[in-house]
Amino acid sequence: MKVYISADIEGITGVTHWDETEHGKEGYEVARAQMTAEVAAACEGALQAGATEVWVRDAHGSARNIIAVGLPRQVRLVRGWSGHPFLMLQELDTSFQALVLIGYHSRMGSGANPLSHTMSGRITWIKLNGVEVSEFSLCAYTAALVRVPLVFVSGDKGLCEEAVSLNAHITTVAVKEGVGDSTINLHPDLAVEQIRSQVARAVANAQKCLLPLPDHFTAEVRFHRPERAYRSGFFPGARQTDPTTVQFDHADFFEVLRFLLFAV
Ligand SMILES: [Zn+2]
Repeated sequence: MKVYISADIEGITGVTHWDETEHGKEGYEVARAQMTAEVAAACEGALQAGATEVWVRDAHGSARNIIAVGLPRQVRLVRGWSGHPFLMLQELDTSFQALVLIGYHSRMGSGANPLSHTMSGRITWIKLNGVEVSEFSLCAYTAALVRVPLVFVSGDKGLCEEAVSLNAHITTVAVKEGVGDSTINLHPDLAVEQIRSQVARAVANAQKCLLPLPDHFTAEVRFHRPERAYRSGFFPGARQTDPTTVQFDHADFFEVLRFLLFAV
C-alpha cells in the first residue's frame, strides 16, 4: 500500500504569525521542527496501518521546510516546485491508496486562522460551483481525479469543519482554533500523538473516503487588484466577469487546475 502525505505550515500546531512561516524569520525554526514532527507522526501512523511506501510532499512556500532526517527511513520526500498543475500534490497518481494532509489551513476570508489564505496573496476568494473553497478542497478534487481517497486532515478547527462538510467520512485532528489574530493550541506533543493514532485509523479505513467528482466545474477567482483579473481573463476559455473576477468553465478538473496554475 502506498500512502501520500502533503504538508503545509499555516495549520501546524502553534503557528500564528507570518514570520513563523518564512525562512530566516523569528520562530521559523520552531515551526519547521513541529511541522517535521507532525509529518513524521503521520508517516508512522501510515506505516502502522500497513503502508509499504510513503511519499511526503513539502508544500509550503519554498517547499523546503521539512527536516528530512526527522522522517522514517521508508519515506520519499518531494521538495521544491516542478511546475506541474497538481502543485501541493505533485506526483500523486492512481498508484496511491490514501492521501493525508497535515498542517492545512482555512481559506482566505474565513476568520478561522490568522494565516488564512488561498493559493497566493493575490486572491480574495476562489469559488468552485458557487462555493468558496480552500486549498484543502482543491486537493480533495485533485485526489478524486486520480481516484485516491482523501482520508485525513489536520489543521485549524475551521478547516476541519469544511473538510467534514465536503466528505463526512474524513478523519480530522484540529490542532488549533483561530480567534481574531490569535490561536488557541493543543500541546505540540499531544497534537503529534493524536495525528499518529488517527492517521493509522484513517488509512486502515481508506476506501469509504473516495470523493465523487462533479460532472462540471465553474471556477471563479476574485483578485484583490483588477489588473490581475484583466491579465487572467486572456487564459484560453476564461472570461473576466467584473473588474476583479475571472470565470472558467470545464467538465475536466485537470483543466481547472491548469487554469489556476497560469491565471493565479
Ligand atoms: Zn503554506
